[in-house]
Amino acid sequence: RLTARGLVKRFGETVALAGVDVSLAPGESLSVMGPSGSGKSTLLHCLAGILQPDAGDVVLQPADGSPLDLGSLGERRRSLVRRQHLGFVFQFGQLLSELTALENVALPSMLLGASRDDAELTASGWLGRLGLDGMGDRRPGELSGGQAQRVAVARALVTRPAVVFADEPTGALDQATGYEVMRLLTETTRAAGASLVVVTHDADVAAWCERRITVRDGLVVDEARRADGTAGAATVPAGAVPGVAA
Ligand code: ATP
Ligand code: MG
Repeated sequence: RLTARGLVKRFGETVALAGVDVSLAPGESLSVMGPSGSGKSTLLHCLAGILQPDAGDVVLQPADGSPLDLGSLGERRRSLVRRQHLGFVFQFGQLLSELTALENVALPSMLLGASRDDAELTASGWLGRLGLDGMGDRRPGELSGGQAQRVAVARALVTRPAVVFADEPTGALDQATGYEVMRLLTETTRAAGASLVVVTHDADVAAWCERRITVRDGLVVDEARRADGTAGAATVPAGAVPGVAA
């Protein structure tokens, strides 16, 4: 569970967050919508302990262990908490271009102390779950945009995080590829028991999540829950090409 209260973040004169409360139940998926510059990415960065808010607090309650108050931790502890409990998917996968897909996905486990062999075995399982069998030896430059995002999803989930954060995960993809990445992101995150926060300006992407908040001028101005109370595809858009085994 992740609970944030009263988040305020300023950049000089700009008030990026003006007092945001948001909480995320275990396994819940939440989309964050809103116009450009409304504070979506700033909110994600504060929730994930990447940015320190000027006011308010963020508490992460992992499934096992005691609650972690991100605001009270120093940068070194926060970065360890991120590594242990959180996963990230960005618009441009931000995979390390010198490493193969398998090495990219193995890296988070190795940074937490796993041996290379163990980390690569686990990584290989995640590549398979994301429909990427046989792609482990490729470098990011040898993958399509959708394949690279699926590697990024595998890398985000490999450490079994409590929460996965995605900022415009489909922003660089065409509609059908974005659909497939969202399907895999929501399905694998749910199967792993992790919560999910997706920042997007695309209502079709947001529709994959159970709950949606809309941010405007640094405030949450609207909140909605999917009528059927589930996550997953609301409707299959015409032209969606699955192309990937589940
Ligand atoms: P977009 O949809 O364009 O990604 P966003 O909703 O994610 O927008 P944020 O990136 O959170 O918006 O930015 C919110 C406000 O804070 C904007 O006015 C932005 O210019 C400002 N801002 C964000 N990061 C910084 C920074 N590092 N330094 C200065 N101002 C910043
Ligand atoms: Mg943004």
